[in-house]
Amino acid sequence: MIYLNQDYHIHTNFSPDADQNATFEKYIAAATTKGITQIAFTDHVDFDAQHALFNIPIDYDQYIAAFNKAKKDAPIDIKLGVEIGYQSHTVKLNNDFLEKYPFEFVILSIHYLEKKDLYTGEYFQGKTKEEAYNIYFQTCLEAIENTPNFTVFGHLDYISRYSPFGDFEYQDYQEIIDKVLTALISRNKGIEINTSGYKHEGRTYPSKSIINRYKELGGTIVSYGSDSHTITELGVELQKI
Ligand SMILES: [Zn+2]
Ligand SMILES: [Zn+2]
Repeated sequence: MIYLNQDYHIHTNFSPDADQNATFEKYIAAATTKGITQIAFTDHVDFDAQHALFNIPIDYDQYIAAFNKAKKDAPIDIKLGVEIGYQSHTVKLNNDFLEKYPFEFVILSIHYLEKKDLYTGEYFQGKTKEEAYNIYFQTCLEAIENTPNFTVFGHLDYISRYSPFGDFEYQDYQEIIDKVLTALISRNKGIEINTSGYKHEGRTYPSKSIINRYKELGGTIVSYGSDSHTITELGVELQKI
């Protein structure tokens, strides 16, 4: 299934790293202008975030009230989503949170590993490329096994975004990546095609070869998202897919 008129990865002003003018209402208006008819709001929830900016959690009662208000007047389909960040020590917090609220779309992502922010590069220090990437994909597998309530895995090869080792070939990590993809497929979970990769590496997250492999192994659930943090990024590069 291909929905090029959808954007299922959007951060609003409730995410501390997003533009504080990026409200539900403004995104809905922009989607209408751009001909995007389905959107899912997927703000960040990272328990024990390894980045000071995310230390104040979103008040989800307030969030859902604002979402419902925007939905009432929305001329397009909007979904209540979330991007939940996995860390090995936050499994219970994550799962309790996902149980508590009526999310229609959940992106499971990894932003931090070994209590280090991938963004700072600290995680890679003292590791070979093989070690760094294998631990990352192994943790993806663990996240899938430990999280019953999610829809798609977010930016599956995000490890390459901040890696000092540059990009990688699927073939070099085929064994572990196939385990990740098989774990998703056997649980009826999907992958997202995240277009924010175009501005970093000239490709989507994950790469074409991983997307093709997911489909080859029998995977059928694919969502599309820009990972926008500003109104102007909504739907960006979706036409390139
Ligand atoms: Zn993310
Ligand atoms: Zn995101």
